[in-house]
Amino acid sequence: MENVKPKMIVFDLDLTIWPFHVDQCMKPFQLDCLKKVKDVYGNEYSLFPEVLDALFKLSKENYILAVASRIEDITTAYLLLNFFNIAHYFTYIEIYPYNKSVHFKWLNLKSCIPYNQMVFYDDDVRNIRCVSKLGVHTLLVQSNIGLSYKLIQTFLNPDK
Ligand SMILES: [Mg+2]
Repeated sequence: MENVKPKMIVFDLDLTIWPFHVDQCMKPFQLDCLKKVKDVYGNEYSLFPEVLDALFKLSKENYILAVASRIEDITTAYLLLNFFNIAHYFTYIEIYPYNKSVHFKWLNLKSCIPYNQMVFYDDDVRNIRCVSKLGVHTLLVQSNIGLSYKLIQTFLNPDK
């Protein structure tokens, strides 16, 4: 990457922020009295373990955070962002089932941040390929581990 400091960090949702596919879950999700997210059968759902910590630290470092997701059940995706109490971290949320270059064109139009000052984390190599063609710096997430603070540090502060 050129010596341009990133301003915006963009995240996929399924298998990056949380370890499941929203479109394949038994909905509706509910929030129980202990604030646990559960499906209709009572199975509990969580974020990947380091996501909360990573979002908190990145927001403290004043990065603009955003979501780019192709989930078809848009309403449930927003509901989960609220149930997991992470929606407030994201300045821009783009969720709709199109090629992700569309999401990034809108992120660029809404924020006026150039593509080369955006970083994108996603577990799907097809999304990584299409978004990197725009000039966004892309990083592939391992779908069994999800987003970790270490993965973020490796890119943002490689000397630490
Ligand atoms: Mg994904």
